[in-house]
Amino acid sequence: MYAPKVGDRLDSLDTPSMIADLDLVEANLKKLMDKLLPTGLNIRPHLKTTKSAAIAGKMVKAGAKGGCVAKVSEAEAIAATGFDDLLITCEIVGLAKVKRLVELYRKHRNIRIVVDSEIGATAINEALAGSGIDEPIMVLIDLDVGLHRTGVKPGEPALALAQHIAGLRHLKLIGVQGYEGHLQHLHDKEDRKTQCLESMQILTGTADSLRNAGFKIDVVTTGGTGTAEFCATVPGVTELQPGSFIFMDTDYRNAVGSFYSNSLTILSTVVSKQGPRAVTIDSGLKSLTTDSGLAECKDSKYTYGVLGDEHGSLTWGEDTPPLSVGDRVEMIPSHIDPTVNLHDVYYAYRGAVIEEIWPVDSRGKVQ
Ligand code: PLP
Ligand code: MN
Repeated sequence: MYAPKVGDRLDSLDTPSMIADLDLVEANLKKLMDKLLPTGLNIRPHLKTTKSAAIAGKMVKAGAKGGCVAKVSEAEAIAATGFDDLLITCEIVGLAKVKRLVELYRKHRNIRIVVDSEIGATAINEALAGSGIDEPIMVLIDLDVGLHRTGVKPGEPALALAQHIAGLRHLKLIGVQGYEGHLQHLHDKEDRKTQCLESMQILTGTADSLRNAGFKIDVVTTGGTGTAEFCATVPGVTELQPGSFIFMDTDYRNAVGSFYSNSLTILSTVVSKQGPRAVTIDSGLKSLTTDSGLAECKDSKYTYGVLGDEHGSLTWGEDTPPLSVGDRVEMIPSHIDPTVNLHDVYYAYRGAVIEEIWPVDSRGKVQ
């Protein structure tokens, strides 16, 4: 049976396989912690990127406190491994999802959630009221700081939502979340910084108005790979949620530069020769996502193209050594989070030897 194990060499892996360079993963984590831990802020990395409790454990060892997940089903998968200090950063709406949340909360009291509507808050309160669980769930108001994706608007609407939550016995308001996702990939660093500080004024300003109105706002959580360092300079921010920094992707590298390294690739095999300067590899749409542009071959002499679900092309210029059937190449994803979600497992290597194998615990957990 095919069962790769620790100690095997990378060249024994079937392809496509998701492989992570441990030296680079550890260096990325150290760089983030060296930059952000001295600020004294809580680092709660977003696990939507890695979907892995094993990696979350490494982050905690390095100084992180807890993690974020996007969805309830993601929280179920990660909490089931024993790692349950989790903030679910997406709104929890719909009867089925709310019921799942209640069952999750029954077992894991560290789970925190966000709300951005009175309807949403009321539904969760009612489900908890009927559950026999007495302890109120910790809730953050999700605030729109400019992304216009989710989040209540700052000012009066945020205040009204806080007042509404205060009237719900099974919800305990502890803070605000504001994610400036629209700024993460701005190429101009000064522009990214300026706009980020504006978003942070909205976030911390709202936290202050809520406090002035008598609410206890202990948590102010925000930030991604492209902005965390700027968020960290703003008084009033208490927590940072970067995710992609651990593996990076070509989109992030192009935007924020190479402070963090591309540490994850999809190992692929040349399966067909299609001309003197063209081959086909076994990584297509089912192995590498394309929403943020095409993946790149780690060896930049070869250019990738999509040939379908299972296939991609590599082409090259005249003076480049040709690739042959059976050769192996590494592909750098263009968007890390949805690419990871296409694979079951990470093979983490040092040198050319597999040192650790991490399941993608919350793969496919999109509910
Ligand atoms: N926080 C929230 C709410 C997010 O949606 C994301 C990513 O989409 C992050 C944090 C992490 O951001 P990044 O992957 O850019 O570091
Ligand atoms: Mn993403």
